[in-house]
Amino acid sequence: MTKNILVIGAGVAGLTTALLLSKKSGYSIVVAAKHMPGDYDIEYASPWAGANYMPVSITGTDAAEWDKNTWGPLEDLARNNPGAGVHFQECEIHNRTKDVGSATAEWFKELLSSNPWFAKVVPNFRALPKEALGPGIDSATVFTSVCINTAIYLPWLVSQCLSNGVVFKRAVFDHILDATASGVHPNGRVDLVVNCTGLMASKLGGVQDTTVVPARGQIVIVRNDAGKMLDMSGTDDGEEEACYVMTRAAGGGTILGGSYQKGNWESQPDPNLAIRIMKRAVKMCPALTDGKGIEHLDIIRHGVGLRPVREGGTRIEKERIGGVLVVHNYGAGGAGYQSSYGCAQAAVDLIDQAWNVQAKL
Ligand code: FAD
Repeated sequence: MTKNILVIGAGVAGLTTALLLSKKSGYSIVVAAKHMPGDYDIEYASPWAGANYMPVSITGTDAAEWDKNTWGPLEDLARNNPGAGVHFQECEIHNRTKDVGSATAEWFKELLSSNPWFAKVVPNFRALPKEALGPGIDSATVFTSVCINTAIYLPWLVSQCLSNGVVFKRAVFDHILDATASGVHPNGRVDLVVNCTGLMASKLGGVQDTTVVPARGQIVIVRNDAGKMLDMSGTDDGEEEACYVMTRAAGGGTILGGSYQKGNWESQPDPNLAIRIMKRAVKMCPALTDGKGIEHLDIIRHGVGLRPVREGGTRIEKERIGGVLVVHNYGAGGAGYQSSYGCAQAAVDLIDQAWNVQAKL
C-alpha cells in the first residue's frame, strides 16, 4: 500500500530527501514549506550558501561519512548534468600557523590538515609548493571541488521532484503534528513526517531543539571572477570572521565571505563587515580586481544567511511524536550542500526501515 509522506522544508535538505524518496516506488510525497526556491529570507539558509564542497568533518564521524557519500552525486552532476548549475573548480586552502586554536581554525581543523580523509575522495589533492605561497601563508593544499549556483540548483531539485510526482505546497506549521492535519496531503492520511526545518527546528512545536543555533554568515556577491576557490584559515579581524572566495557556475557571480557569528540572528548586512570582507578578498585573491582595490569590485548584492549549527551535528533520527512517525534531517550547519546526498540517503534508509520498502531498481 502507498505510504503518504509529508516533508517539511524546501531547503537543500528537504529537496534532496524528497528527490531520493521520489525515485522509489510506494511513496506519495508532499513537500510543504514556508519558504521555497526563489525566496530570500533570514529563516531560509539554502539560497545564501556559496556553495562548495570543502569538508570540515572529522575522520571517522557520521558527518565525514555523509560528506564522503555526497561527493559522487555532486561530481556526477558537474560532469554529466549541466542543467543543475554545478561546476568543477580548483579549491585552495591557505593556512597561517598563527591561526592555530582560533574559532575558524578549529572549524577548519580537518580541512587544514595536510592529509585529510577526503584526500582520497576528491580528485587532484596535493600540497602547494612553498614558493607558490603568498606572504604570511605557511602551507596550502589544493584539490578539485565543485561550486553550486544555488539559484539554479534549488529550482533544479524542485523540477526533478515534480517530474517524479512530488507535490509542492506553501504551509507554515506551528507544531510538527499540524503537518498531519486533514487537507495537507491530498491523499488525506499522513503516514510519516520528514522534518527538514533547518534552524527553525529550534522553534517548531513538538521539536523545539534548542541545541540548534545560527552561525551568521555575511557575504558580498560580485560580478568579478576569481578563477578558482580560495579559503584562508583565519583573519586578523577577530575570531568570528572568515575569508573565502568562490565563483558560482553559470554566471552566478562570485561569493566573497564571510563570517561565522554563533548565536547572532541579525538579518541585515553590517556595512563595516562588508568592507572588511571585500578588503580581505582582494588581498587574498588579486585576480578579482587585477590587483586593484575594492572600488574595482562590481557588487551584485550583500547578503546574510544563518547556518543551522547543531550541537552534536546533523540530526538524522527516527522518533514518534504524538503517535506519528517522524524522521529528522536538520542541523547541517555550514555543510548542508556538501553532506546533502549522504544525509538524505541516511534519512531515506530510516524511512525505508519503517516499512521495509524495496528500491524500484
Ligand atoms: P533551510 O535551507 O533553512 O530550509 C529550511 C526549510 O524549512 C525552509 O523551506 C523553511 O521555510 C522550512 N521551514 C522551517 N520551519 C518551518 C515551519 N514551521 N513550517 C513550514 N516550513 C518551515 N553549505 C555547504 O555545504 N557548502 C557551502 O559552501 C556553504 N556555504 C554557506 C555560506 C553561507 C553564507 C551560509 C549561510 C551557509 C552556507 N552553507 C554551505 C550551509 C548551507 O547553506 C546549510 O547547511 C543548508 O542550506 C541548510 O539547509 P536546510 O534545508 O537544512 O535548511
